[in-house]
Amino acid sequence: MSLIVQKYGGTSVGSIDRIMNVADRVIATRKEGHDIVVVVSAMSGETDRLLDLAKEISDRPSGRELDVLLSTGEQVTIALLSMALEKKGFSALSYTGAQVYIRTDSVYNKARIIDIDGARVNKALHEGKIVVVAGFQGSDEHGNITTLGRGGSDTTAVAMAAALKADECQIYTDVDGVYTADPRIVPEARLLTRMTFEEMLELASLGSKVLQIRSVEFARKYNVKLRVLSAFTNNPGTLITAEDEENMEQALISGVTYNRNEAKLTIVGVPDKPGIAFKILGPIADANIEVDMIVQNVGEDNTTDLTFTVNRNDFENALDILKNTAVEMDARDVKGDKRIVKISVVGVGMRSHAGIASEMFKALADEGINIQMISTSEIKISVVVDEKYLELGVRTLHSAFGLENNTSPGGE
Ligand code: ADP
Ligand code: ASP
Ligand code: MG
Repeated sequence: MSLIVQKYGGTSVGSIDRIMNVADRVIATRKEGHDIVVVVSAMSGETDRLLDLAKEISDRPSGRELDVLLSTGEQVTIALLSMALEKKGFSALSYTGAQVYIRTDSVYNKARIIDIDGARVNKALHEGKIVVVAGFQGSDEHGNITTLGRGGSDTTAVAMAAALKADECQIYTDVDGVYTADPRIVPEARLLTRMTFEEMLELASLGSKVLQIRSVEFARKYNVKLRVLSAFTNNPGTLITAEDEENMEQALISGVTYNRNEAKLTIVGVPDKPGIAFKILGPIADANIEVDMIVQNVGEDNTTDLTFTVNRNDFENALDILKNTAVEMDARDVKGDKRIVKISVVGVGMRSHAGIASEMFKALADEGINIQMISTSEIKISVVVDEKYLELGVRTLHSAFGLENNTSPGGE
């Protein structure tokens, strides 16, 4: 008997009807003779609703209490799905993350999974149960409830699949798989039928929220066969594996992504001396805030400006820290801007091709889109632009690189 982990996202469990539909899909897989662990998200909009409730009380609620609150969303869906399965005549058991020993570190709101003890799940499977596990949550060594960051149910599913040595991890969502760009923004985007972990890692790290990045990291590390597919159709979706044997010829660009969850901070007029980047960014790192892009400009008066981006959720904290640093370092000013987005083009084929960056900048310039920051790596180029250019920028680049009709890895 093979073991399959299926994860259903918020839209897929967004109403009682949809939960019944998920139950039918789970049962169909069961009838094929597989053992099944189902991981579910909260009903769509629920995590946001809970966040808003907390914000009505405080701008910065305690991380611990926020996780106690946010984890309730998934607790609702595990119970409802288990009831739906029972109603349809199949025996199911629901578990919260803590109940199946999803052990995490103690970084509330963005905890990392350290270990999963699969014993309890295995026991239930051996008893013939369909196991339904709450995504997005775990508990730390002291038993405190933690959550894994937005989109974290993907990571629960892949980590479960790795821990239980499942044959496949299927991520059911509201689109047919992974596309060359977000199909909601670029209707012409093309479905990728196969891709490598490496490519998916880049797409996810640059903001494509179809999979949480940590889930792809787990899949790569433990070589979990990962598939992204729709909970509403019967299409085969996108298969993500270590080697893309059928398509070893890599396309130049595999996709265009955007991230609207970043914010930009600038410290202006810092006396230019060795060690300033460390002095500015050290306290930010100490507060567990990840910095993404960094640009430093040296002015003529021997001072420097340093601009960097952080997750929007960390913006207020980072701004406070930066203001303190500015006083200590005698800087002229501190500025913050939340109205930005990062747009990236990704492709492993970029390694061997010059000129992609200039093509990208020209395409944006032709549309009058001003670039505020740039960062490049071997296989991606990212720019920060005003958020009002999000749609235009993504569509422009998708068509500039001919993604609708070239053959890219996984393209049909
Ligand atoms: P779920 O609730 O199932 O976890 P998400 O909203 O987290 O679903 O992720 C699915 C969404 O990801 C899609 O609705 C789509 O708008 C978005 N998305 C962004 N980039 C891509 C991409 N390259 N391919 C497919 N979907 C993408
Ligand atoms: N419910 C959580 C969120 O909205 C986790 C998830 O859906 O993956 O981010
Ligand atoms: Mg998601």
